[in-house]
Amino acid sequence: MACVVVRYHEIALKGGNRQRFVQRLIANLRAATTGLGVRSADGLPGRIVLRLAPEAPVGAVCERVARTFGVANYSVGVEVPVDLDVIRAAVLDCARAEPFTTFAVRARRADKSFPMTSPELGALLGAAVVAEVGGRVDLDAPDLPITVEILPRTAYVSGGKRPGPGGLPVTISGRVTCLMSGGIDSPVAAYRMMQRGCRVDFVHFSGAPYTSRASIDKAHDLVEHLTRWQLRSDLWVVPFGEIQSEIVARVPRSHRVVLYRRMMLRIAEALGRHGARVLVTGESLGQVSSQTLENMQTIAAATSALVLRPLVGMDKNEIIQQATRIGTFATSILPDQDCCTLFTPAHPTTRATLAEVEAAERQLDVPALVARGVAEATRARFVFPPELAGAAAAAGARLTVQG
Ligand code: ATP
Ligand code: MG
Repeated sequence: MACVVVRYHEIALKGGNRQRFVQRLIANLRAATTGLGVRSADGLPGRIVLRLAPEAPVGAVCERVARTFGVANYSVGVEVPVDLDVIRAAVLDCARAEPFTTFAVRARRADKSFPMTSPELGALLGAAVVAEVGGRVDLDAPDLPITVEILPRTAYVSGGKRPGPGGLPVTISGRVTCLMSGGIDSPVAAYRMMQRGCRVDFVHFSGAPYTSRASIDKAHDLVEHLTRWQLRSDLWVVPFGEIQSEIVARVPRSHRVVLYRRMMLRIAEALGRHGARVLVTGESLGQVSSQTLENMQTIAAATSALVLRPLVGMDKNEIIQQATRIGTFATSILPDQDCCTLFTPAHPTTRATLAEVEAAERQLDVPALVARGVAEATRARFVFPPELAGAAAAAGARLTVQG
């Protein structure tokens, strides 16, 4: 039976966390491959095996596995009975399936009753490959590593390892709320939090009613894209234009951007279920004038939530490279009218002290503005893959379904 053998790194798996990690990874792999003919997903020592129905689209299964955080690497293979002739045939099939110059057969016996040692088995199968398919053995750095694992009742033969996205399975680290602008940085920040096992909820502030829908459409597209890695996302869109104009009317010009950001954090915190405990931004130290250490501190002081900035130490070029790799860059650079360009002063302050900002905010009814943002926010739900969306729709969720 065809299968995909999934491996995870042991490093995050000390002690009691291990079972939880593996169970979460199995559940996420099952969900990600819904509708693709994966018959079972089981934990074996050090790996997870997805067994595929004969008609399963192996390429599509691999694509989904490759986007499941927690997967260090995976390979396509077969599950066969513990019979030397059958194992040999599977190894030869594997060698014929991929072009290579050098190869190695790595055998492991979890079942020590098998009547050969692992090196003996590896050598025997390697000799069969040289005789029947060709190629040269390189045990250290082969083009094609073929893995043979012997368990008590079954054996697995799998081919070259393909990289997974690494990290930790989504949801294992908890839930965070990302302020998503539609720019280059915040989608990358969200991705990095997902990679560390977080489920990310999104909040986007639009300049409505003073701007077009462009930034909202971008936020939708970006969240839709990022949902491929976490399977379900909520996106809140807050019309922020009137709140900004209130700030503009009452506070000094140079402090506007810091005040906008503080309002954004408060509203995002209030939108989280039971209050978001952790907020994520795409800020990077020194990138723009609002992102100085002083301003970051003054902005974060608006909320008691933990404010995480996964990009804080990254250069713009590194962020762009990552945005390109994950496929958000092209959308992020589409023109829009970001709410922050509305009423933005030419020379925003780089050092807003908390005392100044709090004095400015005394001119505002902050709780009423937060309540207004929350009341006017709308939520969209995203589900991937489409087959999972069917189940969620039946449960009454409003969905944006993606192909
Ligand atoms: P980005 O590329 O993410 O837009 P940026 O370099 O443009 O970031 P700023 O405009 O200073 O930086 O925004 C800093 C952070 O504040 C953003 O990364 C994002 O987390 C948050 N933010 C800014 N504008 C918005 C918005 N309109 N909606 C939601 N969050 C926003
Ligand atoms: Mg921006």
